[in-house]
Amino acid sequence: MRRNRLVLLAAITIALFSSAISSAAVPKKGGAPIRAQAPTVAEAKAFVDEAEGKLLELSVEASRAGWVQSTYITDDTEVLAAKASERAINAGVGYAKKATRYDKLKLPEDVARKMLLLKNGLTLAAPSNPKESEEVTRIGAAMEGAYGKGKYCSQGKEKCLDIQEISKIMAESRDAAQLLDVWRGWHAIAVPMRPQFQRFVELANKGARELGFADTGAMWRSKYDMPPDAFAKEVDRLWEQLKPLYVSLHAYVRWRLREKYGDAVPANGPIPAHLLGNIWAQDWSNVYDLVKPAQADPGYDLTKILEAKKTDAKEMVRYGERFFTSLGFDPLPPTFWERSLFTKPRDREVVCHASAWDVDNVNDLRIKMCIEATAEDFTTIHHELGHNFYQRAYNAKPGLFRDSANDGFHEAVGDTIALSITPEYLVKIGLLDKAPDTSKDIGLLLHKALEKLAFLPFGLLVDQWRWKVFAGDVTPAEYNHAWWELRTKYQGVDAGVARSEMDFDPGAKYHVAANVPYTRYFLAAILQFQFHRALSQAAGCTGPLHRCSIYGNKVAGKKLDTMLQMGLSRPWQDALEAISGKREMDATAIRDYFAPLQKWLDEQNKGKPTGW
Ligand SMILES: [Zn+2]
Repeated sequence: MRRNRLVLLAAITIALFSSAISSAAVPKKGGAPIRAQAPTVAEAKAFVDEAEGKLLELSVEASRAGWVQSTYITDDTEVLAAKASERAINAGVGYAKKATRYDKLKLPEDVARKMLLLKNGLTLAAPSNPKESEEVTRIGAAMEGAYGKGKYCSQGKEKCLDIQEISKIMAESRDAAQLLDVWRGWHAIAVPMRPQFQRFVELANKGARELGFADTGAMWRSKYDMPPDAFAKEVDRLWEQLKPLYVSLHAYVRWRLREKYGDAVPANGPIPAHLLGNIWAQDWSNVYDLVKPAQADPGYDLTKILEAKKTDAKEMVRYGERFFTSLGFDPLPPTFWERSLFTKPRDREVVCHASAWDVDNVNDLRIKMCIEATAEDFTTIHHELGHNFYQRAYNAKPGLFRDSANDGFHEAVGDTIALSITPEYLVKIGLLDKAPDTSKDIGLLLHKALEKLAFLPFGLLVDQWRWKVFAGDVTPAEYNHAWWELRTKYQGVDAGVARSEMDFDPGAKYHVAANVPYTRYFLAAILQFQFHRALSQAAGCTGPLHRCSIYGNKVAGKKLDTMLQMGLSRPWQDALEAISGKREMDATAIRDYFAPLQKWLDEQNKGKPTGW
């Protein structure tokens, strides 16, 4: 499920990116004194080397503590992991502030890039006032904690529902009243966060301004190798490329849901957000059975095939590894198989959200996942291994460059490989006897569109809202109203029950409560199709894009590896050029991929209203 993957993406980013880009906050006594005269290039270089070494060391420490915490949850491991990550974050803030001292120097290219990464790699810049720094950290932890503990206890019932149970109801129930009830129940968990969030924004902005950014949103946008405002425009441009396709999908799903739910779904307005199979209406694949085409079901069920073969967890992972080795990558190291967590232990609590780790930032690769023999986990394994193969590809680069070209790239790689899990691929690896003929493609494409295409406007709007909030364009008095304005504008959904400024619906999303930037998921959704198209062309695939698989193709593998090896050493435009020959992100690859579906949707929608 995307939600699971998103949360774990956050985990990997926090574990690796932030901590890798953060380090010793508090200047030690006896350290280099701040000099009044202008610093020299040699001093700048020495500073960067020290920061790089220290950050790498703290990142490894935080990863080790984080791994133990996630695979053995106790009060003690939580404290130890929090302490290690606080050390890394504080160090990052400290180095970011010190780096501004060298702003006016003309530095060698690699030193200049590292200096830039030190300054703009932070997600949260704590203010230098120790009281305020402590306060912002505490509020951040409290909001994330409140989200994690969030439960809906409906009146008269003894049992309270957590997010997993609510998600299951959202996915499986077809009772509109029950869906609305749990939807409303989950959103109530965020109400107490509202004053905390308001204060958090004030303090986070104060810290960002100390680093020279206009606000925290501008700080987030600064890491994309272009001016923050130009990046915001770039995101708008990509969305405009996709909007017509999304509007077609939206119109089709709306009239099919109207057949099921009657007037609860309007003929030509926004779709009520609780009827789309997911608490945030960000993934609609759970309502596939309500909207599936009559004659175009794919005709095979990978979950049933894996079950029938009695595929165990390790063998599931072997399938994923073999995809990468078929492209020319080396097999995973023996320690991967010894140290990963593949199944849910019976005797202790673990974080089951799948995630990928590179504990020593060199070769200690691992995944953590409670694998079951399902089609969904089969795909998720490919996604996670994408992180691991990326991590290993850039492990020879200097510490500060051991990350993806931008944060969207890391999430896109494994999904790119997963787009190659075509019926023909399943035949090649012996999981399917015969690929269904192309008349069944609409079913496969519609299912994928409900997952990937439906996600895009949500992936975009979460940070559209936060950017406006951090910039002060949305004031606390209009937090919730502005949220729903954006949800309606981009997603074409609205709340099935009246909302007011007593509510704080953005906080019912993990990434808002936990202060994790979200645009990366929008970028990843775009980039994976762009990568898939480029690699399919390299592999000589001339058929429809959704039937191309790069499995076994060394030319495509080499192209992918070239990009992966660059890590964060060059602007992302260079990395994109290495794999696709283009320097701009391009959403037309999604349109190419879904072209047969777009045609089919337009036929289905004839005479029906579109838009909202
Ligand atoms: Zn991921």
